[in-house]
Amino acid sequence: MLRPLIAGNWKMNGRRADGIALASELARRTRRAGGAELTRDLLICPPATLLVAVAQAIADSPVSLGAQDCHSAASGAHTGDVGAPMLADVGCRYVIVGHSERRANHGESDQLVNAKAAAAHAASLVAIVCIGETEAERNDGTTLAVVGRQFAASLPASAAPDNTVIAYEPVWAIGSGRVPTEMEIAAVHDHLRTLARSRAPGGERLRLLYGGSVKASNAAGILAIANVNGALVGGASLNADDFWAIACSCP
Ligand code: PEP
Repeated sequence: MLRPLIAGNWKMNGRRADGIALASELARRTRRAGGAELTRDLLICPPATLLVAVAQAIADSPVSLGAQDCHSAASGAHTGDVGAPMLADVGCRYVIVGHSERRANHGESDQLVNAKAAAAHAASLVAIVCIGETEAERNDGTTLAVVGRQFAASLPASAAPDNTVIAYEPVWAIGSGRVPTEMEIAAVHDHLRTLARSRAPGGERLRLLYGGSVKASNAAGILAIANVNGALVGGASLNADDFWAIACSCP
């Protein structure tokens, strides 16, 4: 079985005091849990303003640090953006690219997501590449075609199981409290596994996360689905008890 990854996306939330408190509490729990509990990887992705403070709060703990986006260039005249080498420099190991909120709110295409993932790899970061269908696409019956197209177009040639994670996040499930049935999740993840296997050798080692209204109450069922290798968690990652309960729900 692949080692599950439980990733928290804090989105545009948190001031220094609450970010440090949340990160410190998760670090404390992982340290206390010791070796026996560390059967999954725990990752938190705070907003850029909190990366340095959170890096200090989780230092010497098994909790990893990630960012929520990066530019496709390493540096340069890109006001307001952050390059992947800058994220690595402050302690990030991961970066989310192509989240549906960025695709929708910033017009990010598969091609741009592909370039951002390549930039992440060049900076030795693991890219968490987000894909997922809209509600209209789900209703049209085109879910598998949509995620298949996004999978193929969003992954750069450099993508490999050690530097890439896929997060399947149905757009209509994010922040809505609505979740696909376990059969619907399984159908997409099985499809993604087939695509991963045919894309390159080692495709069975590519971690496939589910994201979209994962809560402590539904995590165990979702994480037990074949080919679900973890979760990308938004709202519930802002509460230490909820996020920890999700992490402890891994089979
Ligand atoms: C997300 O934004 O990646 C997400 C999954 O959010 P939520 O868990 O709040 O649906």
